[in-house]
Amino acid sequence: MQKGKYYRMRKELVWGAGILAALLLFFTAFGKMKDTADMLQQEEFTSMEYKELPAVQSELSDSEGCYLCGTAKESLMGYFRQFDDLGIISVNQWYVLDFGILPHEEDGADTSGTRTAMTGTGEGGDFFSSTQTPSRGISTVKVSYGEDSILDVEKAKTILCQDCLDKLLAVMETYGPEGEEPKPRDLCLVDFQTLELYSLQEQHASYYIRDYYVRLDQTEDGMEVEAVYAPVRD
Ligand SMILES: [Zn+2]
Repeated sequence: MQKGKYYRMRKELVWGAGILAALLLFFTAFGKMKDTADMLQQEEFTSMEYKELPAVQSELSDSEGCYLCGTAKESLMGYFRQFDDLGIISVNQWYVLDFGILPHEEDGADTSGTRTAMTGTGEGGDFFSSTQTPSRGISTVKVSYGEDSILDVEKAKTILCQDCLDKLLAVMETYGPEGEEPKPRDLCLVDFQTLELYSLQEQHASYYIRDYYVRLDQTEDGMEVEAVYAPVRD
Protein backbone atom coordinates (compact mmCIF):
# COMPACT_ATOMS: atom_id res chain seq x y z
CA MET A 1 0.00 0.00 0.00
CA GLN A 2 2.71 2.38 1.08
CA LYS A 3 4.58 1.79 -2.15
CA GLY A 4 1.44 2.43 -4.20
CA LYS A 5 0.84 5.79 -2.55
CA TYR A 6 4.44 6.88 -3.17
CA TYR A 7 4.13 5.90 -6.77
CA ARG A 8 0.95 7.94 -7.12
CA MET A 9 2.66 10.97 -5.57
CA ARG A 10 5.51 10.66 -8.00
CA LYS A 11 3.08 10.41 -10.81
CA GLU A 12 1.36 13.61 -9.63
CA LEU A 13 4.70 15.36 -9.34
CA VAL A 14 5.58 14.44 -12.90
CA TRP A 15 2.20 15.68 -14.04
CA GLY A 16 2.62 18.90 -12.06
CA ALA A 17 6.04 19.56 -13.59
CA GLY A 18 4.62 18.84 -17.01
CA ILE A 19 1.75 21.28 -16.57
CA LEU A 20 4.14 23.91 -15.20
CA ALA A 21 6.42 23.49 -18.21
CA ALA A 22 3.43 23.72 -20.54
CA LEU A 23 2.25 26.88 -18.78
CA LEU A 24 5.73 28.40 -19.05
CA LEU A 25 5.85 27.60 -22.74
CA PHE A 26 2.38 29.05 -23.20
CA PHE A 27 3.23 32.32 -21.45
CA THR A 28 6.51 32.67 -23.33
CA ALA A 29 4.69 32.14 -26.60
CA PHE A 30 1.93 34.50 -25.48
CA GLY A 31 4.55 37.12 -24.57
CA LYS A 32 6.10 36.80 -28.01
CA MET A 33 2.70 37.17 -29.60
CA LYS A 34 2.07 40.26 -27.52
CA ASP A 35 5.42 41.73 -28.62
CA THR A 36 4.50 41.07 -32.23
CA ALA A 37 1.10 42.68 -31.67
CA ASP A 38 2.81 45.73 -30.11
CA MET A 39 5.16 45.96 -33.08
CA LEU A 40 2.25 45.79 -35.49
CA GLN A 41 0.51 48.50 -33.54
CA GLN A 42 3.64 50.66 -33.68
CA GLU A 43 3.78 50.20 -37.43
CA GLU A 44 0.21 51.40 -37.57
CA PHE A 45 1.22 54.54 -35.67
CA THR A 46 3.90 55.38 -38.26
CA SER A 47 1.67 54.80 -41.26
CA MET A 48 2.14 57.22 -44.16
CA GLU A 49 -0.17 59.91 -45.44
CA TYR A 50 -0.37 62.67 -48.05
CA LYS A 51 0.03 66.17 -46.64
CA GLU A 52 -1.19 69.33 -48.30
CA LEU A 53 -0.12 72.83 -47.37
CA PRO A 54 -2.96 75.08 -46.24
CA ALA A 55 -3.98 77.95 -48.52
CA VAL A 56 -2.07 81.18 -47.91
CA GLN A 57 -2.89 84.80 -48.75
CA SER A 58 -0.40 86.48 -51.09
CA GLU A 59 1.23 89.61 -49.67
CA LEU A 60 2.32 90.93 -53.04
CA SER A 61 0.54 94.25 -53.56
CA ASP A 62 1.10 94.52 -57.34
CA SER A 63 0.83 91.28 -59.34
CA GLU A 64 3.09 92.87 -62.01
CA GLY A 65 5.88 92.19 -59.54
CA CYS A 66 5.12 88.44 -59.41
CA TYR A 67 8.30 86.39 -59.82
CA LEU A 68 6.56 83.73 -61.92
CA CYS A 69 4.07 85.51 -64.22
CA GLY A 70 5.06 89.15 -63.77
CA THR A 71 8.00 91.26 -64.79
CA ALA A 72 10.09 91.31 -61.61
CA LYS A 73 13.67 91.79 -62.79
CA GLU A 74 15.13 89.66 -60.01
CA SER A 75 13.15 86.60 -61.14
CA LEU A 76 14.70 85.88 -64.60
CA MET A 77 11.40 84.30 -65.67
CA GLY A 78 10.85 87.15 -68.16
CA TYR A 79 14.03 86.03 -69.91
CA PHE A 80 13.33 82.30 -69.81
CA ARG A 81 9.75 82.63 -71.06
CA GLN A 82 11.10 83.16 -74.62
CA PHE A 83 12.47 79.60 -74.73
CA ASP A 84 10.69 76.34 -75.54
CA ASP A 85 12.25 74.62 -72.56
CA LEU A 86 11.67 73.40 -69.03
CA GLY A 87 13.34 74.63 -65.88
CA ILE A 88 13.72 74.03 -62.17
CA ILE A 89 12.85 76.71 -59.64
CA SER A 90 14.53 76.82 -56.25
CA VAL A 91 11.88 78.88 -54.51
CA ASN A 92 13.56 79.98 -51.24
CA GLN A 93 16.42 81.68 -53.09
CA TRP A 94 14.27 82.16 -56.20
CA TYR A 95 16.78 80.71 -58.58
CA VAL A 96 15.59 79.51 -62.01
CA LEU A 97 17.68 76.97 -63.88
CA ASP A 98 16.87 76.20 -67.52
CA PHE A 99 17.40 72.60 -68.67
CA GLY A 100 18.60 73.61 -72.13
CA ILE A 101 17.09 70.41 -73.53
CA LEU A 102 17.16 71.67 -77.13
CA PRO A 103 19.57 74.16 -78.70
CA HIS A 104 18.57 77.77 -78.02
CA GLU A 105 19.31 79.23 -81.43
CA GLU A 106 18.52 82.69 -80.07
CA ASP A 107 21.53 82.87 -77.76
CA GLY A 108 24.04 81.91 -80.47
CA ALA A 109 26.00 79.59 -78.16
CA ASP A 110 27.76 76.47 -79.47
CA THR A 111 25.19 73.67 -79.15
CA SER A 112 27.29 70.73 -80.35
CA GLY A 113 28.69 68.29 -77.79
CA THR A 114 27.97 68.19 -74.09
CA ARG A 115 28.08 71.08 -71.66
CA THR A 116 28.35 70.79 -67.93
CA ALA A 117 27.78 73.51 -65.38
CA MET A 118 27.61 73.81 -61.61
CA THR A 119 25.42 76.41 -59.98
CA GLY A 120 24.90 77.43 -56.40
CA THR A 121 21.57 79.13 -55.77
CA GLY A 122 22.77 81.25 -52.86
CA GLU A 123 23.57 81.08 -49.16
CA GLY A 124 22.22 77.80 -47.73
CA GLY A 125 20.33 77.12 -50.96
CA ASP A 126 20.19 74.08 -53.20
CA PHE A 127 23.07 73.25 -55.50
CA PHE A 128 22.60 72.32 -59.18
CA SER A 129 24.95 70.39 -61.42
CA SER A 130 23.74 70.14 -64.99
CA THR A 131 24.82 68.17 -68.05
CA GLN A 132 23.28 69.25 -71.34
CA THR A 133 23.50 67.54 -74.72
CA PRO A 134 21.22 69.79 -76.80
CA SER A 135 22.09 68.10 -80.10
CA ARG A 136 20.46 64.95 -78.63
CA GLY A 137 17.74 66.75 -76.73
CA ILE A 138 18.86 65.43 -73.34
CA SER A 139 19.59 67.35 -70.18
CA THR A 140 20.23 66.09 -66.65
CA VAL A 141 20.25 68.17 -63.50
CA LYS A 142 21.59 66.81 -60.23
CA VAL A 143 20.23 68.65 -57.23
CA SER A 144 21.97 68.65 -53.85
CA TYR A 145 19.70 69.98 -51.16
CA GLY A 146 21.06 72.99 -49.27
CA GLU A 147 20.56 73.51 -45.53
CA ASP A 148 17.71 75.82 -46.45
CA SER A 149 15.79 73.51 -48.79
CA ILE A 150 12.43 73.22 -47.02
CA LEU A 151 9.89 75.52 -48.67
CA ASP A 152 9.68 78.91 -46.98
CA VAL A 153 6.01 79.81 -47.41
CA GLU A 154 6.55 83.18 -45.71
CA LYS A 155 9.01 84.08 -48.49
CA ALA A 156 6.84 82.67 -51.27
CA LYS A 157 3.83 84.78 -50.32
CA THR A 158 5.85 87.99 -50.69
CA ILE A 159 7.07 87.28 -54.25
CA LEU A 160 4.12 85.53 -55.94
CA CYS A 161 0.69 86.77 -56.91
CA GLN A 162 -2.30 84.86 -55.52
CA ASP A 163 -2.73 82.70 -58.65
CA CYS A 164 0.92 81.69 -58.76
CA LEU A 165 1.06 81.13 -55.00
CA ASP A 166 -1.95 78.79 -55.27
CA LYS A 167 -0.22 76.98 -58.16
CA LEU A 168 2.98 76.62 -56.16
CA LEU A 169 1.29 75.30 -53.01
CA ALA A 170 -0.66 72.82 -55.14
CA VAL A 171 2.59 71.11 -56.22
CA MET A 172 3.95 71.00 -52.68
CA GLU A 173 1.97 67.97 -51.50
CA THR A 174 4.25 65.58 -49.62
CA TYR A 175 4.00 61.95 -48.56
CA GLY A 176 5.33 61.07 -45.12
CA PRO A 177 4.72 59.62 -41.65
CA GLU A 178 1.29 60.36 -40.22
CA GLY A 179 1.13 63.30 -37.83
CA GLU A 180 4.41 64.89 -38.91
CA GLU A 181 4.50 68.46 -40.19
CA PRO A 182 4.70 68.64 -43.99
CA LYS A 183 8.21 69.57 -45.08
CA PRO A 184 8.16 70.04 -48.86
CA ARG A 185 11.41 70.76 -50.66
CA ASP A 186 11.51 74.27 -52.13
CA LEU A 187 11.75 72.90 -55.67
CA CYS A 188 9.41 72.58 -58.60
CA LEU A 189 9.53 72.04 -62.34
CA VAL A 190 8.33 74.84 -64.62
CA ASP A 191 7.29 74.82 -68.27
CA PHE A 192 8.52 78.18 -69.62
CA GLN A 193 5.87 78.15 -72.36
CA THR A 194 2.77 77.52 -70.24
CA LEU A 195 4.08 78.60 -66.80
CA GLU A 196 2.58 75.40 -65.42
CA LEU A 197 4.35 74.03 -62.35
CA TYR A 198 5.05 70.35 -61.66
CA SER A 199 5.94 68.77 -58.35
CA LEU A 200 9.47 67.62 -57.62
CA GLN A 201 8.51 66.09 -54.26
CA GLU A 202 9.93 62.63 -53.81
CA GLN A 203 6.71 60.64 -54.38
CA HIS A 204 6.82 61.54 -58.10
CA ALA A 205 8.79 59.53 -60.64
CA SER A 206 8.12 60.88 -64.15
CA TYR A 207 6.16 63.29 -66.33
CA TYR A 208 5.23 63.90 -69.92
CA ILE A 209 5.18 67.68 -70.44
CA ARG A 210 4.29 68.60 -74.03
CA ASP A 211 7.13 67.11 -76.15
CA TYR A 212 9.31 66.36 -73.16
CA TYR A 213 9.72 63.35 -70.91
CA VAL A 214 11.06 63.99 -67.41
CA ARG A 215 12.34 61.30 -65.07
CA LEU A 216 13.03 61.88 -61.37
CA ASP A 217 15.34 59.83 -59.16
CA GLN A 218 16.07 60.28 -55.48
CA THR A 219 19.75 60.38 -54.51
CA GLU A 220 21.46 60.33 -51.13
CA ASP A 221 21.45 64.10 -50.63
CA GLY A 222 19.09 65.30 -53.30
CA MET A 223 17.63 64.20 -56.59
CA GLU A 224 18.44 63.74 -60.23
CA VAL A 225 16.10 65.10 -62.88
CA GLU A 226 16.54 64.04 -66.48
CA ALA A 227 14.59 65.76 -69.26
CA VAL A 228 14.45 64.36 -72.78
CA TYR A 229 12.91 65.72 -75.96
CA ALA A 230 10.56 62.87 -76.89
CA PRO A 231 7.72 64.11 -79.12
CA VAL A 232 4.87 61.77 -79.95
CA ARG A 233 5.65 59.86 -83.15
CA ASP A 234 3.15 60.07 -86.00
ZN1 LIG B 1 1.91 85.36 -60.71
